[in-house]
This record gives sequence, structure tokens and C-alpha cells, in this order.
Amino acid sequence: MDMAQEVFAVPARESALADRFGRQITYLRISVTEHCNFRCSYCSPAEGTPFFARKDHLQVDEYDRLIGVFADLGVRHMRFTGGEPLIHPYLPDLIAAAHQHGIGKISISTNGLLLARKAEQLQQSGVNNLNISLDSLEPEVFARVTRGGNLQEVLHGISVAISAGIPRIKLNVVLMRTENGHNLADLVRYALAQHVDIRFIETMPLGQAGSEAQNAEFLSASEAKMLIEKELGTLYPAFRPTDNGPARLFQFAEHPRSQIGFITPISENFCATCNRVRLTASGRLVFCLGQENGMDLLPLLRGSSRNEEIADEIRDRIWQDKPERHEFVTDPERSSRIFMMRLGG
Ligand code: SAM
Ligand code: SF4
Repeated sequence: MDMAQEVFAVPARESALADRFGRQITYLRISVTEHCNFRCSYCSPAEGTPFFARKDHLQVDEYDRLIGVFADLGVRHMRFTGGEPLIHPYLPDLIAAAHQHGIGKISISTNGLLLARKAEQLQQSGVNNLNISLDSLEPEVFARVTRGGNLQEVLHGISVAISAGIPRIKLNVVLMRTENGHNLADLVRYALAQHVDIRFIETMPLGQAGSEAQNAEFLSASEAKMLIEKELGTLYPAFRPTDNGPARLFQFAEHPRSQIGFITPISENFCATCNRVRLTASGRLVFCLGQENGMDLLPLLRGSSRNEEIADEIRDRIWQDKPERHEFVTDPERSSRIFMMRLGG
């Protein structure tokens, strides 16, 4: 068994969660905070977003309970995201809870700013998979896009995470025509040199920030792939894809250790294979990234509902209300009411 197979080997068990469109839900993305130490232009307004009162946030024991409920419902992959999850003081406890409930694959999405301090701890807590956002290798562009971020600190964090031995590291790049469209190949070169994967994501019109960024900066994944190939040569379909998410995966013949992925929410819909739902830090379970359908779990957790009752309710509501597809293209106005920092991407 090679490393990729070992990391992603999860017990074969049908999920009890399914929707009316024949999709099994086996993946939960958990936002642990809506706060962030960056304000990326496509994600957040410059002044930040309005926050929930502290009492309306899920507490560690409530996350633990929900992780158990979703594990019992057949969820096998959990990703901790945010806002910025590494600012949450109890993230290691949440990772431990996921392990205790038998979750086979545990991932984190981070902007990397705190990685140098936290990578070792993440590795020790058994994180399998780390996604790090990195939109540019030009310090001024990086600072402009993140509204103040320091590129060197993030690059240092990435190298600490690699040295710490976290099994699978991926870089996430949001495609922006003027900000990074001209040097996508540099980002690929960097990923190849570090032996990590890299994914290019089309900007989605989430929140006003996302809509504005999309209008001003949209660059399709197919054009991005052409720009990369123009400089670096032909990309071949990945020989052994390292995940089964929405990315179309490629590689260069001479660099088998890094896969280059393209995620196309706008130019090529992939909702037919959607296997996920999202939990916000205020306990709202959201059924689709681009629509508001969902249910509030806080009243159930803080009322008298038993775990089995919460599980039944979740199962019924996902079956009834998970939409067939997002409406980024058909109804962007609707998507623009959703805050990405709350949903966790
Ligand atoms: N703070 C962490 C980070 O930046 O990775 C985790 C949360 S962030 C919301 C998760 C992912 O969503 C990041 O890769 C980010 O680039 C992506 N993202 C945010 N807004 C987006 C948008 N409007 N379109 C596409 N991707 C977006
Ligand atoms: Fe923060 Fe991540 Fe959003 Fe950037 S993309 S503002 S780092 S939550």
C-alpha cells in the first residue's frame, strides 16, 4: 500500500445520510470560528463581517456531541475550517474528538499564518490533510489580496508543516486575472519544488466580496491551465488521483509527487457528485455552499433532544432540503447573501 492509499483508507460503510438526488453524504466541513487574521479581498469586506455573540457559538462539548452524531450517521471525513481555524484555542480538542469518534480522515484548511507555531501540534494530533491558501508569491500582491498578510511568514509556516511530516499538504490558489493570472506557473513551480499538491479554484460570488472579486477578476480554470501549460509544458491527467473531491487532477510526467488540480464551480458544475454539508460556528448546518438551505442545531443541542433525535432530524432535513445544485451562475444574487468566512469554503 503506498502512502496515498494508506492515508485515505477509510472503513467501507454506507452513509446513513443521503439526499433525493442519489448522493451519499460522508463529508462534514466544520467551521470552528468566523474570525480571521486576514481579510482576503474575495472572502471578506475590508472592515470584516458582523460577528455572532459569544453565547451563540458552539462550545467544545457541543462540537464534540455533533461530531459523534455525524460519525454515527456515517460521515467519514471531517475538515476544520473557518474563518481561520488555527486561531481557535481548542482546535486540538476538536481534532481529538473526531479521532475518538472514529473519523478516518481529518483535514484542516488554513491561511498558514500561524502554521510555524502550530504545525508540529497538528501533526501530533493526527491531522491527515492540510490545505494552505497561497494566492501569490509576490509579497505586495499577497499583502494586497489578504489585506496585510506577510508572505514570508506563510512560506515559513509551509516549510515547517512539510518538515513536521503532515501526510498530505495542498496549496489552494483562488484564480484572479490581474492579481495572480500572470504568474500561476511560479506557484506551480513552488509546489513542485516542495513536492506538494496545488489546486486552482475559480472565484465564487459568495458575499459581496466574492461577487465583486468575481466581477473584477474572474479567470476560468481552463484558461489558467492553458497559461500554466504555455510555460511549463503539457499537463497529463493524474495517474493516481490523490483525492476524490471536485478537482480535476493533472500532473507533469517528470513530477509524479505533485498533482495540479482545477476546481470549476463556475465554468463546469460538479454538484452531481457532492458528498458534503457544512456546519457553521453558530451551529447552522448548511446543505449547499451556494444556497441558504439549512437548519439550526443550537436549539436542538441546548434543548432536551437526545442524540438519536438530533440525528433523525438531520437525516430528514438533508433528504428533503439539500438542493440539487448551487446557483452561482443561474442566480448569483442569491449566493451573494452568503458569507464565506462563516461557511468555511
Ligand atoms: N482561512 C482558511 C483559509 O484561507 O484557507 C480557511 C477558510 S477559507 C474561507 C477556505 C477557502 O475558501 C480558502 O482556500 C479560500 O481561498 C477560499 N475562498 C474564500 N472565498 C472564496 C471565493 N469567493 N471564491 C473561491 N474560493 C474562496
Ligand atoms: Fe480569512 Fe481564509 Fe477568508 Fe482569507 S480566505 S479572509 S484567510 S477565512
